[in-house]
Amino acid sequence: MECIFCKIINKEVESKIVYEDEKCVAFEDINPQAPCHILVVPKRHIPALRDAEEDDKELLGHILKVASKIALERGLEKGYRIVLNDGGEAGQAVFHMHFHLLGGRIMKWPPG
Ligand code: 5GP
Ligand code: ZN
Repeated sequence: MECIFCKIINKEVESKIVYEDEKCVAFEDINPQAPCHILVVPKRHIPALRDAEEDDKELLGHILKVASKIALERGLEKGYRIVLNDGGEAGQAVFHMHFHLLGGRIMKWPPG
């Protein structure tokens, strides 16, 4: 499997994993864009949000809930942002669906 995030999930590639359960893994982004920049990914390889199926709705909700729990654990009560890039023009570079959890600085709106 060529996917870098599958390799991280399988511990074939090193990363700073901050959370793991049977459905998802969260790890520090290698190129952080904020003091807190964590990626939360499903263990199952779903290339992009558009590829998620009806049966994945619970998984998607679970991942969002995990992200919000990590945010509060990290002391981001004042605010945090969750971003999902779907497709190259949106900035998706890794085609294993992931949510970015960003926080620890003032966020601009709209995102670039
Ligand atoms: P995308 O642009 O696809 O929404 O986000 C991909 C994210 O994955 C980027 O923020 C990038 O820094 C991160 N990333 C890419 N390769 C690796 C890696 O090998 N390890 C970690 N921890 N993050 C990575
Ligand atoms: Zn993958």
